[in-house]
Amino acid sequence: MILDGNVVAEKTLGEVRAGVARVREKYGVAPTLAVLLLGTDPASALYVRNKKKMAASVGITSPDHVYPDGLGREALLDLIDRLNADPTVHAILPQLPLPKGIDEDEVIARIAPEKDVDGIHPVNMGRLLAGSPTVLPCTPSGCLAILDHYGVKLEGAEVVMVGRSRIVGKPLAQMLLARHATVTMCHTRTRDLAFHTRRADVLCVAVGRAGLITAAMVKPGAWVIDVGNTKLPSGPWVGDVDFPAVSKHAHVTPVPGGVGPMTRAMLLRNTLLAAERQLGAAR
Ligand code: NAP
Repeated sequence: MILDGNVVAEKTLGEVRAGVARVREKYGVAPTLAVLLLGTDPASALYVRNKKKMAASVGITSPDHVYPDGLGREALLDLIDRLNADPTVHAILPQLPLPKGIDEDEVIARIAPEKDVDGIHPVNMGRLLAGSPTVLPCTPSGCLAILDHYGVKLEGAEVVMVGRSRIVGKPLAQMLLARHATVTMCHTRTRDLAFHTRRADVLCVAVGRAGLITAAMVKPGAWVIDVGNTKLPSGPWVGDVDFPAVSKHAHVTPVPGGVGPMTRAMLLRNTLLAAERQLGAAR
């Protein structure tokens, strides 16, 4: 079966659209997501355009702060301070990766935790680890929403997470653990990757290496979430999973049309939730 991220994203966006309308009616303001784009990376510019288009489609305002020539450290931190202090901005998203030479950790830590829309501020990551999250990272939330939509039982399931990045692997593993799955983390130093992936009821892969997961590495009937997104020299974007082969005997998210649309939908959901929290607290 194909796990269709577009279908789940449409459902989520419908809920977000209704929530945004409620906020506009109750508080007279639109949830607002400030997007920061530094440099001229065409992929980053494309991601920002897509996010803004989707935001507009649900009624979220997304003023952008675009600096093709980059910004110095002081100017960037000043901008974040201004956005933190601006009550009309509810969420801040610096498009990652930031240009070389900028300390990403410092920038992320400067964002007010309540406006950190991707849940990667150390405070938000700490809350997730402590078991009382406020903001859940967008891509992992999107992966879980897909599994939930298809009714996948996580409690007691053998889940294998390949990749341990801050934005995907680590938070997703924590979220799966919170749902009572038995979680194994794999990475570049894992001795026998196939040994682990073959016994997974649920296999989540966030690596960035096209075709890393072959059919022989996946148990028949397994649920496979492919976060990977790599542009082949021949043109198309593909995931980490050999989709044509693996989808013959397992349930898999396609690339494109799997996790990508869910990440964008969850970004907007997080913006709405941030606005609701801040507007509610300000009353
Ligand atoms: P990342 O920071 O690049 O880290 C990659 C992870 O994969 C690392 O933990 C690395 O292990 C592990 N890894 C690399 N080669 C491996 C191998 N041969 N076997 C096992 N593990 C291996 O990852 P990321 O930022 O999470 O991105 C991963 C992929 O997801 C990329 O293609 C990215 O474009 C995509 N992505 C997609 C979305 C979306 O919305 N669709 C969102 C975020 C990311 P070590 O830690 O040992 O180095």
